[in-house]
Order: sequence, then C-alpha cells, then structure tokens
Amino acid sequence: MNDVRMYDILVVGGGMIGSALALGLSRQGWQVGLVEGGERATLLQTPDPAKGVEDFEPRVSAISVASQQLLASLGVWQDVMDGRHCAYQKMTVWDGEGTGRIHFDAAELRARALGTIVENRSIVRALLAALEVSDVDLTDGVKVTGWWQEGEQRGIELADGERLGAELVVAADGAHSRLRQWVGLPTREWDYDQQAIVCTVRTAQGHGFTAWQRFSPTGPLAFLPLLTEQGDDHFCSIVWSQDTDEARRLMALDDRAFTAELETAIERELGAVEAVSRRFAFPLRQRHAKDYIASGFALAGDAAHTIHPLAGQGANLGYGDVRALLEELSRAKRTGLSPGHDLVLARYQRRRKGENLAMMAAMEGFKQLFARDELPLRWLRNTGMRWLDGLGPVKNRIAAEAMGLGH
Ligand SMILES: Cc1cc2nc3c(=O)[nH]c(=O)nc-3n(C[C@H](O)[C@H](O)[C@H](O)COP(=O)(O)OP(=O)(O)OC[C@H]3O[C@@H](n4cnc5c(N)ncnc54)[C@H](O)[C@@H]3O)c2cc1C
Repeated sequence: MNDVRMYDILVVGGGMIGSALALGLSRQGWQVGLVEGGERATLLQTPDPAKGVEDFEPRVSAISVASQQLLASLGVWQDVMDGRHCAYQKMTVWDGEGTGRIHFDAAELRARALGTIVENRSIVRALLAALEVSDVDLTDGVKVTGWWQEGEQRGIELADGERLGAELVVAADGAHSRLRQWVGLPTREWDYDQQAIVCTVRTAQGHGFTAWQRFSPTGPLAFLPLLTEQGDDHFCSIVWSQDTDEARRLMALDDRAFTAELETAIERELGAVEAVSRRFAFPLRQRHAKDYIASGFALAGDAAHTIHPLAGQGANLGYGDVRALLEELSRAKRTGLSPGHDLVLARYQRRRKGENLAMMAAMEGFKQLFARDELPLRWLRNTGMRWLDGLGPVKNRIAAEAMGLGH
C-alpha cells in the first residue's frame, strides 16, 4: 500500500506489557513495529537515591515467579535485578476486624522468594534498553490518534498524520485503551466506589522482606517491601484502598496526620512511619473486555482487563497474555499461518479470557468477604484463615497459584 509503513505485527503501547510482547515477537523473526506515546529519553531515566522517599515510583508490581521466568527468557531479568528491587520471602495477611491471620513463607514452598517487588519503570527501562538493540522498529514520543481499516488492510494513524499497517495489531495501550474503543470492543465494568492511595514510606522497623496486608471492611491496606541500592530495608510502597469519601479525607490530611492514621491502620507492625512521599489517589474500577479479539486485532494487558490491586496481580495477568500470544504466534510461524489469522487469535482468546476472569472473580469474592460485617461472615473469615494457616499443603497450593506456578 502507498504511504503506509507495513509490519507483520504492530504493538501499540510500550508499557510493561507491550514492550515485552514486541521484544519476544521480534525474536521469533516477525517484523515488528512498536508505538509508544512517551519519550524514550524520559522512560530511560535512572533513579536518584538522594531524593529518599520521593524517588521511588508510586507504581510498583509484585512480580510473580512465572512473570519473572518470562522476563528472564527475554533476557531482561538480570537488568531488572541490577536496579532497585526487593524479593520477599514472606507474606502476612490478616483481618483487621478479627483474629484471623495467615502467613505464607517461601521456605515452606522450597522457593527462594514468593515474588519480587519492582518499580514499574525499572521493568520498562530494562525492556526499552533491550528493544534499542533489537530489530523492533520503535516509534516513541508520538500518540496514536486513530484506527483505519480498508478491506483486508488495517492499522493506526499517528498524531503527525503518518499511517502504519500490519497483519496483526495488538493494543497494549493500558486501562483506558483508545484502540479498544475505536475498534469497538465493549467492556464489562464494576465501579468499586473506592480509591487507591499510593505512596512510599520509611518506617522505624525494617520490613523483614515481608509483604504485609491488612483487610478491613472499607478495603485492604498493603505495605510492600522496597530496598534501596544500599540495602536499606526501611522503605515500603503503600497501596491503601478506601471508600471514596474516606480516601478524600485521608488525602486532605497533612503528612503528620496521614502517617499517624497509617500507623494505626497497619497496627504499628513496622513501628512509626517516619517519612512519606507525595500521595497519589486513583479511582478503582474493575474492567474486562467482553472479547479480546477482532479481525486482525487483539487486546493485551490492562487494555483487556484491569483488576482490583488487592492481590497485586495486574501485571502478572498481562504477562500471562504475553506468554500465550508468544506461544500462539510461534506456532503460527511454524505452520505458516498469518499472525492475524482468526484461528491464531481465537486460540489466544480461549486461553486467556477464562483464566483472567477466574482471577477477577476470586478478587471480587475476597473483597466482598472482607467488606461485610455480618457475624457469620466474620466467623468464617477468622476460623477460615486460622484453619487455612494450619493446613500446610492447601495453603502452599494457594501460594503456588498466586506465584503463577499453579500449572
Ligand atoms: C495502585 C495500583 C497498584 C498496582 N499494583 C500492582 C502489583 O502489585 N502487581 C501487579 O502485577 N500489578 C499491579 N498493578 C497493575 C499494573 O500496574 C498494570 O497491570 C500494568 O501497568 C499494566 O501494564 P500495561 O503495559 O498493560 O499498561 P500501562 O502500564 O498503562 O502502559 C500502557 C502504555 O501505552 C501507552 N499509550 C497509551 N495510549 C497511547 C496512545 N494513544 N498512543 C501511544 N501510546 C499510548 C502509554 O504511554 C503507556 O506506556 C497496580 C495498578 C495500580 C493502579
């Protein structure tokens, strides 16, 4: 076609999911284009330890062992590990309204860690560095502004008017995916009427390489362990989900009043909260696309599903999508099918939709269980947690599932 830059596969969105997918596809020998709205120079910036709590990125991910294996197979995990990260050996979850408490320990699973907390930007930076020396044609600093389809041809339009086309376009442009809307794939959405407050804190006691999570009727509070380059283990990333009115009240407090409430909410497990970074709050909404695919088009990552952050599974679900797409497109390459062939896309959707939905339903159930205050539910929570905590093999099975090693 005239004046259209053509590829086998075009990925839109160079976040954690899109850049991993583009890299993996290019290694399979496909001609891949990747378009990212952000500037690569900004995305490649390294942290500045002198800034203390302010320097940690508010968005972090609890990367499961399965996601770690995927990033290792792409050759970027070592680079991620050269940056700031914290492997956590333990996780403690408890009911703020009762006596139920459950502990997970990597040692019981004969694993080195339950997962690794990594700042999202470290993963993006490692992937971008690998993309720069790959065959992927990366266009950065320009937004995708439209979608076009003419007969069997399809593609995107950039803000500068240029048109790009491909046999398969994958939208990894995040939760508010414009491409999903332009192509016309509807979503099912649940509004939680909640907001997540995210920030970084320094605590008086070290976190002990443990992820702490306390449930209350208004939402969970997580202290996720972080580590500085110097090995200081007094920093945690906070994700505090609260009903919208309560979140607004907490956001309006000054730092002293906020840290005092935070200390109480986590029951002073880590002693005083000594410093807090700037706070961010965003509305929590669970979204799931009814279909992940259309002709020559697929959704991946948050563009297909956004999940309540209570179990930190968002990025891991996205990496599950990447794994499935890489496997299906490698099979297409071997069998000579076009990457946008209906059969290839149908297999991808079949593999991912059910699994993502099951995880979203489990999160919803969990949230509802803790949101209710009726006595039988409270009893169930407390006895259930104590019972599960004493049941080694079942508990370890659940932990293995959460680590992405369940199958
Ligand atoms: C509070 C919070 C806590 C979380 N904690 C965890 C956790 O502990 N563990 C976990 O696994 N997950 C967690 N998540 C989820 C995780 O951050 C997301 O699942 C993940 O970032 C999704 O990656 P993505 O690449 O699909 O989308 P994004 O990270 O949103 O990336 C989309 C990319 O597309 C680009 N883009 C968008 N529109 C355009 C356009 N028109 N043109 C060009 N480029 C465009 C953007 O610039 C961006 O780089 C959390 C999320 C939240 C909100």
